[in-house]
Amino acid sequence: MSSQSDSLPRPTRAEAEEAVRTLLRWGGEDPTREGLLDTPSRVVKSYEDFYSGYRDDPREILSRTFSEVDDYDEIVLLRDIRFESHCEHHMVPIIGRAHVAYLPRSRVVGISKLARVVEAYARRFQIQERLTAQIANTIDEILQPHGTAVILEAGHQCMTTRGVHRPGVSMVTSRMLGVFRDNSDTRRELMAMLNRPQLSEF
Ligand SMILES: [Zn+2]
Repeated sequence: MSSQSDSLPRPTRAEAEEAVRTLLRWGGEDPTREGLLDTPSRVVKSYEDFYSGYRDDPREILSRTFSEVDDYDEIVLLRDIRFESHCEHHMVPIIGRAHVAYLPRSRVVGISKLARVVEAYARRFQIQERLTAQIANTIDEILQPHGTAVILEAGHQCMTTRGVHRPGVSMVTSRMLGVFRDNSDTRRELMAMLNRPQLSEF
């Protein structure tokens, strides 16, 4: 699935700011009111941040790997990676935590890179299911481990602050590839690692 259309020209910043003014007017406001004068530029700036993932290449992020790991052949798990995304249906936040694991074959990657891959896909218009799959598929494709597992748990503000108004509900999605899908022992080991209480605040 293409994440950004190549055929549609990107609107200018002025056009994006004008769109915000339109929404302010539509909401019942006067965009020329003093308190709102800078709002369009602030919103557009925020959007640059929220959707910065389109400028990242997650494959590139994972391209530098280390192969001298003294035959480390156990699960590598990075858990509780906070992420902020936006639901593509309502353009409101999805905020949650990601747990990312892989069982290296020969190459490992710096752990901050895993968090950056999460962020590169999260900072786009998303649905949680696709976000989960994209993170797992990319790690699996680039690192070619024995297996990759990604679990996401998140609250969707389109559900908590509008529509059915159900605060406290979280959605859990997972994608298990390789040994995490095929080998129940490996999957159980991962779950045990995830359920272990954190040792400290480090
Ligand atoms: Zn939504």
